[in-house]
Amino acid sequence: MTEVFADIITIGDELLIGQVVDTNSAYIASELTKIGVTVRRIISIADQATSITNTLDESIHQSDITIITGGLGPTGDDITKQSLATYFGGGLILHPETLKEIEQFFTKRGAKMTDRNRKQAEIPDMCTPLRNRIGTAPGLLFRKDNRTIIALPGVPFEMKALILEDVVPVILSNFNLPVKLSITILTAGLSESMTADLLEEWESNLPSEYTFAYLPSIGILRLRLSISGKNEDNLKRQLKYEANKLVQILGKKHVFGFDDDTLPSVIGNKLKNINCTLSVAESCTGGYIAHQITSIPGSSAYFMGSATTYANSAKSQLLQVSDEDIVSQGAVSKKVVEQMAIGAQQLFGSDFSVATSGIAGPDGGTDEKPVGTTWIAVTTPHRIISQLFFFGDSRERNIIRASVTALNMLRISIDEYSKK
Ligand code: ATP
Repeated sequence: MTEVFADIITIGDELLIGQVVDTNSAYIASELTKIGVTVRRIISIADQATSITNTLDESIHQSDITIITGGLGPTGDDITKQSLATYFGGGLILHPETLKEIEQFFTKRGAKMTDRNRKQAEIPDMCTPLRNRIGTAPGLLFRKDNRTIIALPGVPFEMKALILEDVVPVILSNFNLPVKLSITILTAGLSESMTADLLEEWESNLPSEYTFAYLPSIGILRLRLSISGKNEDNLKRQLKYEANKLVQILGKKHVFGFDDDTLPSVIGNKLKNINCTLSVAESCTGGYIAHQITSIPGSSAYFMGSATTYANSAKSQLLQVSDEDIVSQGAVSKKVVEQMAIGAQQLFGSDFSVATSGIAGPDGGTDEKPVGTTWIAVTTPHRIISQLFFFGDSRERNIIRASVTALNMLRISIDEYSKK
């Protein structure tokens, strides 16, 4: 069983001028990866015949599969179909079954079909059309020198339906694909370089059938461990074995979940398990923590409410923070953030609470408290924990990092409380 390689070519001037973000490639790459195809290259090119044929020619010489999206429509700038017909040495012919499907498409919607729509039933004479059930441009399947070339419409939902219903089954039946499994380990509170130091020895001893990748985002580092081979059960066991080793090295303090977990979803599950509730008091994060918690379906089972207390008067009036402490310590201080957390816990009658107070920037920093200075406090039914952080000078990143850090502190506190 050898590795099967694919290229993805997205066509459209709109992609090259930054008007449309190429989301098609990411979707196709993820679906191909799931079935064990190795994506070798993703390339976006203009609606231009020579560009299309040159890129396709290069791809066919290097990869087993080429997936193309865009330019199959009925307008003048849609030249993919004609370019493919020319490249494969043929012309366009009217495909009667496709024409019938397009006619049905318009009849069902009570819409008038034009000559332009009828032209969509013209396809290169050497391809097999792939039925587009939700649009008018069919997908086009070519085989040349043992290579598979598939052109799909650019409209994302049409492309997605064709990938799932036609492209994946075609690839699975034409290729003997290796089994590829992956697990993504989610961490918070560790930088990429700190993690690389901790994992250096483990990584250097990782057998060659594994691949390992660092995927950093603000405050969160995802670690993807993959393995490929033949026997799925053995691979699953091997993957689990190495993932467990990795979790042990990094520790539960930093590893908060796997694959599609998020900090708010993990926290929600933990709170539901111990039948406890949560409230939030936010200053510098301006409601972002509450927004993330309430983005989880079913969060009403444990989330009581939040107070976005930006002004000092709001902190004292809503959360009973002492005016004296605000004046003597400053709003960004241990005393104030702890009183905010206790205030929310009392106001909403929750078991846990989390509070943030920081200088998001770009203004408001001082020598003593530069932009990025942030205090975070968490209350549990038993105790209060607070910590000072220095995040940096970008307002947007500070808000996200403060939120991620607060949620991670909360997660650790819930774990500690549950163990008692
Ligand atoms: P149709 O037959 O519906 O016209 P088409 O194959 O001609 O399909 P395009 O005209 O290239 O497709 O693109 C249609 C729309 O799909 C574009 O306006 C754009 O919004 C979206 N689109 C095209 N390519 C991509 C891409 N790579 N990623 C995300 N969206 C895309």
